[in-house]
Amino acid sequence: MTSKTALVTGGTRGIGAAISVALKNAGYSVAANYAGNDEAAQRFKDETGIPVYKWSVAEYEACAAGIAQVEADLGPVSVLVNNAGITRDTLFHKMTPQQWREVIDTNLSGVFNMTHPLWGGMRERKFGRVITISSINGQKGQLGQVNYSAAKAGDLGFTKALAQEGARAGITVNAICPGYIATDMVMAVPEKVRESIIAQIPVGRLGEAEEIARCVVFLASDEAGFITGSTISANGGQYFA
Ligand code: NDP
Repeated sequence: MTSKTALVTGGTRGIGAAISVALKNAGYSVAANYAGNDEAAQRFKDETGIPVYKWSVAEYEACAAGIAQVEADLGPVSVLVNNAGITRDTLFHKMTPQQWREVIDTNLSGVFNMTHPLWGGMRERKFGRVITISSINGQKGQLGQVNYSAAKAGDLGFTKALAQEGARAGITVNAICPGYIATDMVMAVPEKVRESIIAQIPVGRLGEAEEIARCVVFLASDEAGFITGSTISANGGQYFA
């Protein structure tokens, strides 16, 4: 029996890298997409043996071409993990249209751009898993992140609506909302800010990327077939949605 193919966007660093590795360990044939950091992608590929594919999820045509290449190499994708994401944080009165657009294009339109080209194949095969990494800040809103909070909240609306369309075709569509996880994105904030973040997390620590990866592996499994349109909040008790 050939293994199922999983495609992880932003799958070479941070949470995405942990997801790629966890899916590989669970028996999937994994493709890890990334945007531009060739050095990190090469290191990830050397360390894990997982093939890497470079394109921007913000561009529909690039996604369609990238997906076609992955499917030619590894077979039809049955698990899509929409993990790629960026921040362009600033207070709203200082936010430029470009900062708004970049975040919406990657974090929200990127989810459409990746899911849409794969949807027809999943429907035909009567099986699919679409798992999107949203954020606690899409659930509660975060000052300095109007663009990011809007995009991540949009991901939740996307998930709930598409779940209804996929249900009869055996496709589940779910989201995970991580709280603060120890990755480059969070370690890049000043230490003082990070300490104040940790003080707001009831379990008293940042999350680990592997803790999000384990949620993905569960949602991807056959056993999770009755779960669709759902959001798993993995945030150390910081927010109850
Ligand atoms: P990182 O910054 O560590 O990694 C981001 C990954 O996404 C990289 O592989 C990067 O590629 C890729 N990427 C960025 N833009 C694009 C694009 N346009 N097309 C394709 N790939 C792209 O992020 P995290 O691991 O911290 O975050 C992963 C996801 O989890 C994001 O969606 C984020 O919003 C979400 N999240 C993170 C939290 C955290 O605490 N870290 C909390 C809640 C949600 P490259 O290496 O080439 O730059």
